[in-house]
Amino acid sequence: MASEIDNILKKVDSNVAHHIVKLIGEDKEVKIRPMTMKHFKILLKSSEGINRESLLKEAPEEVKKIDTIFDAVMKDCVVEPADFDPLELFSADWYYLLVMLRTVSKGSTIDFNMQCMGTMESTSGSIPCKERLKLSIDLNELEKASRKKLDVKINLPGKIKVHFSPPKRKDAYVLNDYMIEKGSSPVEEPILRIVSCIDWVEHDGNKVTNLSLDDKMKIFERFSYLQKKEIQKGYDQLSFGIPMLVDIKCNKCGYEVRERLVDLADFFIL
Ligand SMILES: [Zn+2]
Repeated sequence: MASEIDNILKKVDSNVAHHIVKLIGEDKEVKIRPMTMKHFKILLKSSEGINRESLLKEAPEEVKKIDTIFDAVMKDCVVEPADFDPLELFSADWYYLLVMLRTVSKGSTIDFNMQCMGTMESTSGSIPCKERLKLSIDLNELEKASRKKLDVKINLPGKIKVHFSPPKRKDAYVLNDYMIEKGSSPVEEPILRIVSCIDWVEHDGNKVTNLSLDDKMKIFERFSYLQKKEIQKGYDQLSFGIPMLVDIKCNKCGYEVRERLVDLADFFIL
């Protein structure tokens, strides 16, 4: 027989508020529940004192571990659809859902500090400002960008057409595995991100799909400089659901900058 505490816990679980999130990349709705202390604990433990960029350099396998934890928490907080798989989301939708999850779990305001990167004139010349800037942003006020198609097609000699599609969450894992296997340097990551968007290749009327990242890399190496630039432009226009860009201004020195906000690891801590 269930104890009274079990009954209480069951009652709590079955009465949690649900929120509907309309995905941007796909015309689909998901129902989410707020994260609980259990989830916060898992995320905080996984990302304590971590800088993703340096981690990518020193221990890419750790990045994979953190990614897995984020995906598990997201899956746990999506109530519907029952077969929800975060890996099948477009990266843009994955990120957007994470922002919404943060909003319903912890509120939409993120407060953070940063040091001013501007300079000031003094009698001894130009000196760094280093003013401590206190910033507060409201996630609800950030502009939401609608989905833009990455419908760039690149023609290679021999009547070969290379088709691209927006990256999915699962591509992040493929990319990470590739970097571990090849011992790639993090400076190669941006180019690999673009390469991973190659979806299929058309050849003699045939559609060649299921390309490995290695295959995609070989195809990409046949691009001309201008073709690379063209696809780079297409990729840059692929806006994420919430671009997370904030305008920052220092009142002391007048320095102004548009920054991309916070690393994922800080996202639930701040
Ligand atoms: Zn300043």
